[in-house]
Amino acid sequence: MMAASHRLLLLLTVVAVGVMRRKPPVVAAGDAPPGKIAVVGAGIGGSSVAHFLQQHFGPQVQLDVYEKDTVGGRLATVTVNKQQYEIGGASIHSLNLHMQDFVKLLGLKHRRELAGKSAIFSGEQFALEETDWYLLNLFRLWWHYGMSFLRLQMWVEEVMEKFMRIYKYQAHGYAFSRLEELLHSLGGDTFVNMTQRSVAESLLEVGITQRFIDEVIVAILRASYGQSVPVPAFAGAMSLAGAQGNMWSVEGGNNLVCSGLLKLTKANIIEATVTAISLHNSEGKTFYQVHYEDEEGQGSSFYDIVVIAAPLHNNKSNISFQNFDPPIAEFPGTFHTTVTSVIHGYLNSSYFGFPDPKLFPFASILTTDAPVLFFSSMDNICPVNISSTFRRKQPQEAAIWRVHSQHPLEKQELKTLFRSYYSVQVTEWQAYPDYGSSKSLPPIVLHDNLYYLNSMEWAASSMEMAAVAAKNVALLAYNFWNRDLEKIDQKDLMHKVKTEL
Ligand SMILES: Cc1cc2nc3c(=O)[nH]c(=O)nc-3n(C[C@H](O)[C@H](O)[C@H](O)COP(=O)(O)OP(=O)(O)OC[C@H]3O[C@@H](n4cnc5c(N)ncnc54)[C@H](O)[C@@H]3O)c2cc1C
Repeated sequence: MMAASHRLLLLLTVVAVGVMRRKPPVVAAGDAPPGKIAVVGAGIGGSSVAHFLQQHFGPQVQLDVYEKDTVGGRLATVTVNKQQYEIGGASIHSLNLHMQDFVKLLGLKHRRELAGKSAIFSGEQFALEETDWYLLNLFRLWWHYGMSFLRLQMWVEEVMEKFMRIYKYQAHGYAFSRLEELLHSLGGDTFVNMTQRSVAESLLEVGITQRFIDEVIVAILRASYGQSVPVPAFAGAMSLAGAQGNMWSVEGGNNLVCSGLLKLTKANIIEATVTAISLHNSEGKTFYQVHYEDEEGQGSSFYDIVVIAAPLHNNKSNISFQNFDPPIAEFPGTFHTTVTSVIHGYLNSSYFGFPDPKLFPFASILTTDAPVLFFSSMDNICPVNISSTFRRKQPQEAAIWRVHSQHPLEKQELKTLFRSYYSVQVTEWQAYPDYGSSKSLPPIVLHDNLYYLNSMEWAASSMEMAAVAAKNVALLAYNFWNRDLEKIDQKDLMHKVKTEL
C-alpha cells in the first residue's frame, strides 16, 4: 500500500515537474490576450476564479462557466418555514481576506451573529462545557488540561500568521505552480511537512497532551471535517483557527458570493456537465476542446485556457482527458461523505443528561470519537437573514437543528436526539477529502494552460482556501500567458515583497 502511494506521489511529481520544465506556451504570450477561457464548476472556487481571471485578463476575454447542478456547489441552503438555513459551508473566519473582499465588492453584509454556548459530548456526559463567564472558561480549561490550550493558541496563531503571507504575495502578483512551492514560500519545510503528518503528531510535539487531543481537538476536527485522526496538521490548524471564534457568514446565504461574482464578471453560465477535455494543436497553438452534455444533447467548444474548479478525485467529476501525451495521471484518494440533516423539532435533552429541557444551555454540541456516537456535531441554527428582533429559540421550544453525521440518521437515531419533530431535510455531501486516503498533493498545472483549482483541498478544504487557490490559478494563468516567469515560484518572497515598491 505504502509503496503504491509512494509511486503515485512520484508519478504526480514527475508529471508536475515535467509541466514546469516544459517551455511556456508558444501561444499568444506577449501577443493578444486569450480569446476564450472555460471554468468547470460554479462553486466558490469557480466563481472567484472567473472574477480574478477577468481582473487580470480584462473584460474583453470571453468567460464560460460550466455548471452541472447549482451555482454555489457546496455552499447551499434549505428552506424551513419560509426561512433559509446554511447546509454546506457555513462559517467564515474574520481573517479570511478574500471572502471579506468579495462581500465588500458585492455590497453584501455580514449576518448578525447570535451568541450560543458550546459543549463537547462524550456519549455519556459532557467532557467540557462552555459557560457565560470567560474567566471561568479559561479556569476550566486550565484545570482540565493544564497549559495545553495556551500552547494550542500559540501554535495556531503562528501558523495563521505565516499563512497570511499569501495575501501579500498575491497582491504583488506572485503565483505558484505547485502546492508544495506555495506552502514552502509561506512556512518553509514545516508547512510542507504539515500536509504529510497528522495534526495530533504536530500538537504532541509542541507539548499538547494526548488527553486534550482526544477530548478537545478531536471534537473540533469531527465538527469541521467529520474525521479526526488522519487530518493533516495544516488542514487541522485551519479548522482549529475557526474554533477560536471570530466567525461570520453572509447575510442572505454564503452562496450569494458565487452568484454575485458571476454576475459581476458577466460570465456566460452554461448549464451543462463537462464530460471530457481534449487537447488540440494548430499552427503552433494549443487549444482545449471542452465536451459537454446538456438537456439538448452533446456539444463542445474550444478554449485557450481551461480551469477545472471541481474535485477530480476518485473520478468524482467524470471528466476524461483526451489526446494528452503524456496522459494526465489519475487522481488518487476519495472524498469523505458527510450527511447534513436539518431537523425542525424538540430536542431530547434527557439524552444529554438534562431531564428538564428548559435547563439545557447549549446551542452547539461537538462530539468525541466514542463509538456509541452516531453523529459528529449538532447546532441550533439561525436563518441566513436575522432581523433585529430575532431571538434564538429556547431549548424547550421547537427549533431548527443541523446535525452532521457520516450516514443518514435512522429513525431510531432521530428519536434519540429529538422528542418529536415536524420535518427532516437530508443532504448527502461528498464534503471534503478523506485525508487518510492519499498523502500526495495533486498538481495545479495539468497541462500548459489547463489548471486544477481544487488540488488545494488536499492541503485544506474551506471557502477561503478555494478563493486563495482561485487567485493563485488566475495569476498563474496570467503570468504564464505573458511569459512573466519571474512571477512564478519565486524563492525568498518575504524579502522580495518587502523591497518591492
Ligand atoms: C457540510 C459542509 C460543511 C462545510 N463547512 C464549512 C465551513 O463552515 N467553512 C468553510 O470555509 N468551508 C466549509 N465547507 C467546505 C466548503 O464548503 C468547500 O471547501 C467549498 O465550498 C468548495 O468550493 P469549490 O468551488 O471548490 O467546490 P464545489 O462547491 O464543490 O463546486 C464545484 C462545482 O462544480 C460542479 N461540477 C462538478 N463536476 C462538474 C462537471 N463535470 N461539469 C460541470 N460542473 C461540474 C459541481 O456541481 C459544483 O457546483 C463545508 C463543506 C461541507 C460539505
